[in-house]
Amino acid sequence: MNGAAVTVARLIHDATVRIADTLGLGRREARIEARALAAHAWQVETAWLIAHDTDIPDLMQTAAFLALLEQRLAGQPVAYLTGMREFYGRRFHVGPDVLIPRPETELLVERALSHLPTGQPLRVLDLGTGSGCIAVTIALERPLAIVTAVDRSPAALALAQRNASALKAAVRFLQSDWFAALAGEHFDLIVGNPPYVAADDPHLGRGDVRFEPLAALAAGHDGFGDLRRIIRDAPAHLAPGGWLWLEHGFEQAELTRRLLQEACMQHVQTLQDAARLPRISGGQASEKFTAN
Ligand code: GLN
Repeated sequence: MNGAAVTVARLIHDATVRIADTLGLGRREARIEARALAAHAWQVETAWLIAHDTDIPDLMQTAAFLALLEQRLAGQPVAYLTGMREFYGRRFHVGPDVLIPRPETELLVERALSHLPTGQPLRVLDLGTGSGCIAVTIALERPLAIVTAVDRSPAALALAQRNASALKAAVRFLQSDWFAALAGEHFDLIVGNPPYVAADDPHLGRGDVRFEPLAALAAGHDGFGDLRRIIRDAPAHLAPGGWLWLEHGFEQAELTRRLLQEACMQHVQTLQDAARLPRISGGQASEKFTAN
């Protein structure tokens, strides 16, 4: 930078090209990222950037933007740099202690809502809540639902609590290794997006995933370590007729369904995400209460 007057449009354009070239992203995606970084660096809305594209940011502003850009070029996910990610139309705080909310997880929320008629105080459990995006969204979409969210990580719980407070969602948070702290409790609906990637999956070494908490992603040699435990223990925590829905990898639907069947769940089924990949599977507990 030689001090020549550089406009907002020019900065964004140059950053777009560098992001696209360095990270192998398409121009469109790279431009969205460049704008998100500039908006965060200057504490403005992205619409402001477009309205002010001939403005000349001062040296401090330019330096703040370029510092963020360098971190992005080194691979840091945009969501960790801006500290925010949108999920189901709301903005959630995120950080390196939690998985970045994915659009495909909105399918899990949609499915959960379909089991929660408005006006009924049903008990919902979110396992491994991370940023809290699933639990908080359900609590806001179904104000009468009684929502509990657990995570093993205190840092994740602190962030989830922060999101619940910021968005004014009533959620009970508990530190728990899956069902460990929930002895004797029953729920009408249990959902979760547990770690499900195989420990040696090369996917873990690419892109944003490299910077995300491994504990939220990897689950044993086959990726089923946590899905197995959850499905084994869930029936003891489901009310009669209650539903369990879990997110899983696109190649894990068949085995997930088999595990659900082995756990005596009924109406076992898989749903596809927007990319037409099998992404969530679920089943219903028997209507008759089988205490165990
Ligand atoms: N879908 C995520 C990924 O592909 C994994 C999320 C998870 O393990 N729960 O990286």
